[in-house]
Amino acid sequence: MIPPTHFLISWVIADATTKTRRDRALVTLAGVIPDIDGFGYPIENWITINWDTPLLWHSEYHHILCHNVGFAAFVTVAATCLSKGNWKTTFFACLTFHLHLFCDVIGSRGADGYQWPVPYLLPISNAWQWTWSGQWDLNAWPNRVIGIGCFALTLWLARLRGFSPLEMFSSKADRAFVSTLRKWWPRRDSPASVIS
Ligand SMILES: [Zn+2]
Repeated sequence: MIPPTHFLISWVIADATTKTRRDRALVTLAGVIPDIDGFGYPIENWITINWDTPLLWHSEYHHILCHNVGFAAFVTVAATCLSKGNWKTTFFACLTFHLHLFCDVIGSRGADGYQWPVPYLLPISNAWQWTWSGQWDLNAWPNRVIGIGCFALTLWLARLRGFSPLEMFSSKADRAFVSTLRKWWPRRDSPASVIS
């Protein structure tokens, strides 16, 4: 799946399971961060178009560097440290990380039919290459349904609880967004202008 879908899935889980802004950010980021190994995508495309010799940083590193148990351990330990030992945050950060891998296995087939296997045991072993014969394309309708569903759920939660993913970037922007959302879509139990 594409990073925005991973982000929204992880945010919904973070929103439902953790209590603080910091912990929501940790659980959400853990579910997106495996895709930093896709950093080579724009470089590779640009080089392929403009140079004779392509720089295959996306083809060679995506799903290799960060979609594995070694990086999962690093992210889990980082979540433990940054949440100051909150076991719930640690658990759900580990969960969203692995849910990311699961979603890639079921719904990230490339346009060329390549399945982008997940070499889960790296860096210990290259023996496991997770794939699924029923995997659908990256731009297939189930991914769109999941993405749109999680986006709608994110809006509903923001209206209900008074915060949105924008809190990770700016409290002011988050407050303005929730306030506008509640004006357009007032809660039944309180005035539209009130943010809890
Ligand atoms: Zn991924």
